[in-house]
Amino acid sequence: MPYELLSEEQRELRDLVRTLARERVAPRAAEIDESHEFPWDIAELFREHGLYGLLFDEEWGGTGTGTLLSLIAIEEIAKVCATSSLLLAVQELGSLGLKLAGTQEQKERYLPKLASGEWLAAYALTEAGSGSDSAAMRTTARRGDGAYVLDGGKRFITNAGVAKLYTVFAKTDPEAGHDGISAFVVEADTPGFEVARLEPKMGIAGSTTGELVFDGCRVPADNLLGEEGEGFRIAMRILDRSRPGVAAQGLGIAQGATDYALEYAKHRETMGKPIAQHQLIAAKLADMETKCEAARGLLYRFGQMVDGGAADEELTKASAMAKLYCTDVAMEVTTEAVQILGGYGYIKEYPVERMMRDAKITQIYEGTNEIQRLVIAREMLKETRAFLLAEV
Ligand SMILES: Cc1cc2nc3c(=O)[nH]c(=O)nc-3n(C[C@H](O)[C@H](O)[C@H](O)COP(=O)(O)OP(=O)(O)OC[C@H]3O[C@@H](n4cnc5c(N)ncnc54)[C@H](O)[C@@H]3O)c2cc1C
Repeated sequence: MPYELLSEEQRELRDLVRTLARERVAPRAAEIDESHEFPWDIAELFREHGLYGLLFDEEWGGTGTGTLLSLIAIEEIAKVCATSSLLLAVQELGSLGLKLAGTQEQKERYLPKLASGEWLAAYALTEAGSGSDSAAMRTTARRGDGAYVLDGGKRFITNAGVAKLYTVFAKTDPEAGHDGISAFVVEADTPGFEVARLEPKMGIAGSTTGELVFDGCRVPADNLLGEEGEGFRIAMRILDRSRPGVAAQGLGIAQGATDYALEYAKHRETMGKPIAQHQLIAAKLADMETKCEAARGLLYRFGQMVDGGAADEELTKASAMAKLYCTDVAMEVTTEAVQILGGYGYIKEYPVERMMRDAKITQIYEGTNEIQRLVIAREMLKETRAFLLAEV
């Protein structure tokens, strides 16, 4: 999909992000991976340049430039550093509950802080015993005097320990299954809330992934998002809109690896010529580029659907397809990039080994790709394919 579809303002913003990514983020990527430390300098860089604002409407201090541009921004950053791209993707993930289900008062209280990047956000759905089967969660929220008391824990939460605001899901009616789950905004300094530990990981090393503990954590009743019992539907509506952020991250990693492998293949010579001129390598490069472009088509189409005002139910399948395809492409393409670099692909001096490790998580979080296939198939089963019916 041609970039010319963007308005002049959107193009300018994309170019700003691209330049920042190349000049300021790329030189830090290997260090971030090596140190396993949260990149506060990059979070600050994004704040200074108003990048979090790309995710928000003007009303809240954002640019109001839409979903497509925010996905392109994540893609541009992920081309050089997957961990840094997650700063934007998770800011969106953690803010969507407020955007979709928040009251005017809740939005006024929190969205400007999130749009400026003063506060980072997180989304806490997963528990030790409930990932894909998120409705099996055990964290409870009992209604007390003007507050809900949360007890339980969450696992694998991105931005744990760095976020100031957590969108948390808990059971207000444990007997009511999906309808017994509610959503809350929990501020990081709420008594009874703590980050118990952070996980060492294969990739996206600078991003924190942690365990949250709620022990008699009193959350003001005003911090309930939507109605009691509406939490599961809110969680799924959020994921429909946030998964393309992971898709954009995957696509960016894939394109970054393709670009690197291409340059390498032009310069590395074997048997008297650049390896790019060996047909087996040329074919790999052609496949990598084609897969990236196909993935981009699905992703940008999703962005255009949201910006064009598509209804929630139209987004589910488009979102799952973008997430599935972009992230499978990320894994395939980065693996091929390592292959093209040969032994140099496997050592840390070259970025493609990091890209391959970073790509893997995109197939797992915000719903594994097995779950995306289930979602797509479920949506397909709701559709009527009239020409087939006529033949039956
Ligand atoms: C680095 C990282 C960051 C994360 N960030 C967050 C976050 O910010 N917030 C958050 O809430 N969660 C987060 N997660 C959690 C992540 O979304 C879950 O790990 C993921 O959804 C899978 O859940 P699980 O690990 O429990 O795997 P399981 O659900 O136990 O799945 C195990 C395997 O079985 C497959 N499977 C499960 N059910 C089915 C089925 N019905 N049909 C076919 N196959 C199936 C899965 O695809 C997978 O391959 C993060 C995880 C990681 C590793």
